[in-house]
Order: sequence, then structure tokens, then C-alpha cells
Amino acid sequence: MPRIFIIDVTNRDGVQTAKLGLSKLEKTMINIYLNEMGIFQSEFGFPTTRHETNYLQANLELAEMGVLQPINLGGWIRAIVEDVETTFKRIPNIKHLNLSISTSDQMINGKFQGKKSKNSIIKEMVEATKAARVHGAESIGVNAEDASRTDISYLIEFGLAAKEAGADRLRYCDTLGYDNPFTIHDNCQMLAEKVEIPIELHCHNDLGMAVANSIAGAMGVMDGGQDAYINTTINGIGERAGNADLIAVVLALCKSRNCAKKYPLGWSIKLKHASKIAKFAEYAFKVPIPINQPGVGSNAFAHASGIHADGVLKDPGNYELYSFEELGRGDPIRVETGREIITGQYSGISGFSHVMGKIDVSFSNKSREEANEILELVRYANVEAQKPLVEDELEFIAKYPQITKKLLTMTPLE
Ligand SMILES: [Zn+2]
Repeated sequence: MPRIFIIDVTNRDGVQTAKLGLSKLEKTMINIYLNEMGIFQSEFGFPTTRHETNYLQANLELAEMGVLQPINLGGWIRAIVEDVETTFKRIPNIKHLNLSISTSDQMINGKFQGKKSKNSIIKEMVEATKAARVHGAESIGVNAEDASRTDISYLIEFGLAAKEAGADRLRYCDTLGYDNPFTIHDNCQMLAEKVEIPIELHCHNDLGMAVANSIAGAMGVMDGGQDAYINTTINGIGERAGNADLIAVVLALCKSRNCAKKYPLGWSIKLKHASKIAKFAEYAFKVPIPINQPGVGSNAFAHASGIHADGVLKDPGNYELYSFEELGRGDPIRVETGREIITGQYSGISGFSHVMGKIDVSFSNKSREEANEILELVRYANVEAQKPLVEDELEFIAKYPQITKKLLTMTPLE
């Protein structure tokens, strides 16, 4: 029976969004939270972008250490041999890759403007896929950018060539959010039946249908007999109007009518981590969660009107489809209303020890020298983040100073 897996692309599509970005430590925390939540794969960055090199290597080290296990860490590159070669030169132990190329007439005419043809696109993609195989990639996804505006017969030809070259999955990118649930279902069912390869759904929200399209597309893939991989981002952060929101997608898969029975998840996802991961992304991106966001918005379990309040008090099931406890909500949050000592890029050892003591990271059995080293790393992490670090980040730095040092090291124009 086909199954659904989640590939979260916050650390790729999310961070490439205009006006937004994350520090390398924040990206690392997101990988950790996704892993805790039981997400199948994190598209964790750009192997051919120089300032990502140390971050990607450090996260692969965390995977080797068992910290980032069992999540897969996948890189995103263009589907050209040059990008594959650069990737394995800089990040030799990367295991999972998605190779991307545009396939629609719009992009071939409007973007490539005669530099690429339908034939050359397939040829380049095939060569890149084979090269990634030769370099030992364990899994390869081939992305058809603008798939929804691509002639379906060409898309099938492209998919068959990708499969023949050794690709494990085909990514159907609704790059402009052009599909609707009915069109994406039919397109993806046909692709699954004709190409016979697992298919990823990469949906954008330009028409407000990213989540619905992801679910309908996955259903199409599974109706066509293949596993489906839905691309999500935390809080739906992504290019323009964003991507399919991680929490909304998981809720829809688990809670919408008859969905879970007919279209089951391949891995169990711990929804209890929903609130934590959404709050962290809100803080890290500095983009507030809308109050009506499914599951994690502040109004998601709020009731004011007489009939609703009365109904929910008698039985929450009257007006709530799922409980706040399931999403990890309901615990009291401690908010400092008096004096605050926080860490920053100019912190000293006294204030720093006070902050770390409060979160139970004691330096009493460590040397002063060691504490000073951790403080130095915290200062640098603050320089990059430009906002106070959260407790989990401080704990991470104290626990993995060498990894943190790597994350924070960038050498431009070398
Ligand atoms: Zn995208």
C-alpha cells in the first residue's frame, strides 16, 4: 500500500524567501526540531553556495553522531553536472540530493530564451543524475520546476528519463501555485501510473491552495500506485505567498474525512511538537503566526460567542476538530516581567553564567577557560542571529561547542 512522507523545505525554500533568512544555528535547530517531530527529510540547504559549506558539513556530522537521526538531510542543486561536481567537492559525504530544472514552455522560452531546449533539458538532467549516482548519492530526487505548466506528455518523458538515469523520485513543482486540487490529482495520478516512480508534491500558495493541492496531489500519486512525498515549510514560509504549511498538511492528513485510512503516513509524526516548531520559526524568521493559523494560531482554540462557548464547554468535540493538547499546547509559558539578564554579542562572563544557570547549564565543573569559550561562541551566534538566542540554542552551544564553531565559521572570497 502506498504511503505519504514529508520532506520539509524550510531550510531551502523558506530561507530563500525575499526579506527573510535564518542564521546557520537557527537552521540547525530547525533540523533538530524536524527530526524530533519525526519528519522524513529536511531539505537542509544549498551545497553549491559557499557560505552553506560549514553549516551543511556540521549538520552531517550531527547526523553521524546520532543527533540528527533518523531524519534524512537533502541538498538542493541545479540539475547540471557542474553543480553535482561542486557539491561532492565541498560536501563529500552528502547522501541525499534533489536536482532541479525547469520543464515548462514558459520557462524554456521566457527564462532560457533559446539556451536550452526540451531535448537538452532532459540530456543535462540525465547526465547530472548519473553523475550524482557515480558520486554515491543514496537518494536522488529530480525536480521538474513549473511542472504544473508543463505539457504532461513531456513531463512523462522527462520522468521516465530521470528514472532510467537512476532517480528515486520525481518532484512535481507547482512553482506558481497554478494547479487546483482536481488538476493536480489527475496530473499526478497519470505521472505515477505512466512513470511508476514515487512523486514529490511541491506546492505554492499563490491562489491559497498549497495545502489542499499537496493533499490532492498526494492522493493522485497514491491512486496511481506510488508513494507520495509532500514538501512543506514551517508556518508556510516560502517564496511569495509561501508553501504548504507543515502543521496544516499533517493535520489534514491525520484529521480530514477518511484521509488517514485510505492515504496513510509512512512514518508516524509527533504532532505534539507542532506548537514548539511553529513558535521557533515565528521567532527565528520574525514573522508572526496569524491568529487564525490552523492548529498553532492563537485563535485556533479560542471561543467567544455564546453558542460556541457553551457548546465547547459541554463537549470540546462540538466545536473543535482536534485537541490543543495534541499539538503540544496548553502548558503555561513563563514570561519575565521584571529584571532580565540576556545574552548578546557584547555579553560578559557574569551575566552569561547567570543565564546559563537559569537553564540548568552549570559551569561549576568546567574550567573558567571553557566557560569563556562557550561565551565567545554565544557572542558570535548573536552576531549572526541579531536577536537573543533561545534556551535550546544556548544548550546546543554548551553541548556541541566544536559543531557550533564550525557553524559560525565563514570565510568569504577565499
Ligand atoms: Zn518552491
